[in-house]
Formats: sequence, structure tokens, C-alpha cells
Amino acid sequence: MEQKVNVRVLLDKVKNKVVFVEAGGDFVDILLSFLTLPMAKIIRLINTCHDGPPLGKLGSLCNLYQSLLNIDPVHLSGDQCKDMLITPRNQSEVMCKKLKINIDNAEQLSYFLCRGCCSGLSTKKDTMCSCGDLMNKKIEVKEDSDITAGEYEGVFVTASASFLVTDDLCIRENSVRASVDILSKLGIKDIKKIDSLSRSFGLKEISPCIYWELYHVKPCLLSATT
Ligand SMILES: [Zn+2]
Repeated sequence: MEQKVNVRVLLDKVKNKVVFVEAGGDFVDILLSFLTLPMAKIIRLINTCHDGPPLGKLGSLCNLYQSLLNIDPVHLSGDQCKDMLITPRNQSEVMCKKLKINIDNAEQLSYFLCRGCCSGLSTKKDTMCSCGDLMNKKIEVKEDSDITAGEYEGVFVTASASFLVTDDLCIRENSVRASVDILSKLGIKDIKKIDSLSRSFGLKEISPCIYWELYHVKPCLLSATT
């Protein structure tokens, strides 16, 4: 069954704009996990879930990525170079597997040992070792099969913490003062103009958050299921 994360969305009824989201550690952990993603992975995710105009400065990085795809393999130092750059592994992969929703749903990590010197180790098969041999001896690594079962314990923040997240992805501890600060910054004086809605997030709604601020869209929050 798909994991969902529940949040409370405060909405400016007049402007139909998200004021902030009141969320627990589970939601904030997912947002913070974006910081663990390698750049090429971010570009791939954006290309997958974004079909609008180029994303400002990030557009150049998308060009860089596309250029790599177009480079003839004869100009690369090794057969694995392209694959290594296109699908880099996340250093925090093991931690991210504990998230309720893992945006970087990579396949299980494999390790390959050098057949020659037996000290070179790579996560990509057939990478050239410094000794000149290929690293292609697969090592079996036992993974914790039921890592997401049981009660959520928190990954980067504690599960019981409560936060306010604004639509530009600023995260603050939940307090009356923080709420008042955000409301006054937005010039909202009349609380009656604010609606409070319960929203449930799945992978589909979370994914666009990765270009949330860049593209100035918040449809994921407004359209998430109740
Ligand atoms: Zn070697």
C-alpha cells in the first residue's frame, strides 16, 4: 500500500495561495532528503515531473546533463563514465530508505570488487580499478528488508517534532510566534480569510516539490487528496 503523509494546509481564501503547511517530522524529513540528492538525480527528477518552460538557472544544468547524454562514448575515459554521471548514487541512500516517501527510489545498491588487486571497490560494474583490472566481482550485501515497517521514528528530524513550511520551502519550528510572523510578512490581518485543510501526500504530490520554489507553483499542495 502506498505510504501517505498527512499535513494541515493553511490557505489564503482570497488569493487561493498556500500560507504555510503545518507538518510533522515525517513530511519535513522528505523535504530535507532533497538535500541528499546528487545533482544529476535532481535534474532527472525535474525532467520527469516538469513539463513547463525551462527552470531559470537550472536550465543550464539541464543542458549540461543533455550534453553528456549526447557525447560519443569514444570521447569518454571509460565505458562506465556516462552511466556513473547520469545515475550517481545517493550517499545517504540507506537513511533515505527509512523515509515514508523516498523520492530517490533507487534499486538496491550493489558492490563490485576488483578481480585483480581485490582492494578496488565500486558501485558500478566494470569500472576500471587503479591497478588496471575491472571491478566486476559482485559482493552480496544483505539489506534490512522491512525497514519501513513499524512506527515512524524519524530520519533527519524527530518524528514527534512539529514544523511550519512556507511555499518557498522555508521550514520553521511550529509556534504561535512563527505563525504570526509568516502571516504578518504576507500582510494577512484577517484570520477569517484563512482556510485550514487536511491534506494527504503521496509520491505523486511530493515529487513536484523539488522544483516548487523554482517554478513558483504549488499545485501539489492545493490538489493533494483530502
Ligand atoms: Zn584492482
